[in-house]
Amino acid sequence: MSCSRTLALIAASTIGLIMTAPTAGQTTGRKYPEGMAPPPVKWKGLVAGIDNLDDAVKARLGEHTGPLDWYSSRKHEFKVPGSDLTDNIHMRGDTMIDTIEAVTPPEGCETVAAVRAKLGEPEHVTILSKQRIISYAGKGFRFVANNADGKIVGVACFPPKRHVPEGEPKVCDSSKQKQGPLPPVSNAKPWEGLKVGFSVVPLGLDEKMLPTLKASEREYKIHDVLQARCCYLSYQGTSVALVGADIFGMLGVDLAKLRAKLAEEGHPNVVVAMSHTHAAPDTIGVYGFYPKEYVQSVKQALYQSVKDAAKAAKPVAQVKVVSVDLPLDGARVAEISRNCRNPGLVNPQLAVLTFHGADGKVLGTIVHYACHPETLDAEKHKMFSADYVGPLRDYVDKALGGTTVFLNGALGGMVSGDSPGRRPVDIKLLGEKLAKYVVEYAEKAQPTTEHTLRFVHRPIQICPTNIKFKAMAALKGGKAWLTDGRIPTELNYIRIGSAELITIPGELLPEIGFDIQARMTGYPRMIVCLANDELGYIVPGYDFNEKDYEEGMSVGAAMGPMIRLAAYQLAEQGAK
Ligand SMILES: [Zn+2]
Repeated sequence: MSCSRTLALIAASTIGLIMTAPTAGQTTGRKYPEGMAPPPVKWKGLVAGIDNLDDAVKARLGEHTGPLDWYSSRKHEFKVPGSDLTDNIHMRGDTMIDTIEAVTPPEGCETVAAVRAKLGEPEHVTILSKQRIISYAGKGFRFVANNADGKIVGVACFPPKRHVPEGEPKVCDSSKQKQGPLPPVSNAKPWEGLKVGFSVVPLGLDEKMLPTLKASEREYKIHDVLQARCCYLSYQGTSVALVGADIFGMLGVDLAKLRAKLAEEGHPNVVVAMSHTHAAPDTIGVYGFYPKEYVQSVKQALYQSVKDAAKAAKPVAQVKVVSVDLPLDGARVAEISRNCRNPGLVNPQLAVLTFHGADGKVLGTIVHYACHPETLDAEKHKMFSADYVGPLRDYVDKALGGTTVFLNGALGGMVSGDSPGRRPVDIKLLGEKLAKYVVEYAEKAQPTTEHTLRFVHRPIQICPTNIKFKAMAALKGGKAWLTDGRIPTELNYIRIGSAELITIPGELLPEIGFDIQARMTGYPRMIVCLANDELGYIVPGYDFNEKDYEEGMSVGAAMGPMIRLAAYQLAEQGAK
């Protein structure tokens, strides 16, 4: 048996062993630092990481639902008088309060000024179009305030750990950028020569495929059909294929042949944007089993989706665009997305592009939002599903017409669902909640008056320092994947009228996402993750702690800074 084969076998078993799911159950999983004094601010008399949510406390906090099954922990949702929103408490274990995400501010912290008076200068502020995220992570808090009146409308409390160190920029301000529906554009000049086609192709995960999967998945039910949906654009000699696919993840090396074949056939600019649904087979093989037959079927479906969409291309008169920051009241996008690694640090931007024929009808829609599709507890319910992306697309297809393609955003560490639970009904609740926003804002979208289609490919090579990725490289045939010991991957810059997309080969953390978006000049500004590669989490260099979960699932500490720099350069280039 050849050495590399042995290496590959060792690698496979090692990877399966070490690539474990997050243990902290969507909480910070941190203890309150020993010897550290409690903060000068308490939330309803409670300190996250110190106090327990026992019956007496629950009674004092009032009417609530829970404990809800929530990953390996528990979640309680407390009603807030006079509000539709809830104050949520995430537990570590049965009673320890790990994270509080509330609309009710701590006593004496009702305004930005009052918070500063109590806690001093913040370590970092992210300023968005209408609200700002004010971070005191070193003291265990993040606040959300309205820009207009400085009112605190959300607070996240968690065991303290400084996030942004001294020396790093203290502010990320994107409030000057266009955001929200644009003023009406009348008599917009129609595009001449833009053609767009859409396709929907099942990935082939059906009853016949189940026996080829790992043992524990062979009894799973297909809750909804996993699909590849392509939006194929061509204009003035440039073509771009954006494929939104219900794939957990795939490595660039596994997509290379498919993309080379498509390029030979006249489709050089293909972006496979994986939704990262967790209710799908592990098409990376990161958990020890590589479903070869299913991967083959997926590749075939991806190929077909591009071909079908290219063939279906029709003239487009208008491309309408809109992006908006959804409300962050309660230190999350309520019932849609939250951040369990850095509570309160959530990118609430929703972006929508609609493509209209000469008759004004919608041929198709691109929806961009950042959130892990892991609403459904697939292992518990033994089901495969597109997760929230499925009901989202179905709802938008019905409401707007045409075909909806979903692209995921900076969902890394760890932006995930804020649904009441992880049941099949929860994917519908979350998906349709987001879909209603899509339809609401799509109806306010205005035609982009910029008529351009651009694609800039930006290769990059990263040295894997994480033993798991080295093991994965061995599994993927070592030299076949690595170039001089580096992992070759890519970013891409795409411009569709005024809309700007930068693609990222993995799961970018929102704080890097905010910084990149702040340097983009288009409208909307979208960062598309898990695009043409899935190299795990992309963590800021200043916050790379080897013991933490996301870091354990990343190529290494160099990835964050390298991706950030390459994206800045693309944004600059794009602005020219
Ligand atoms: Zn992930």
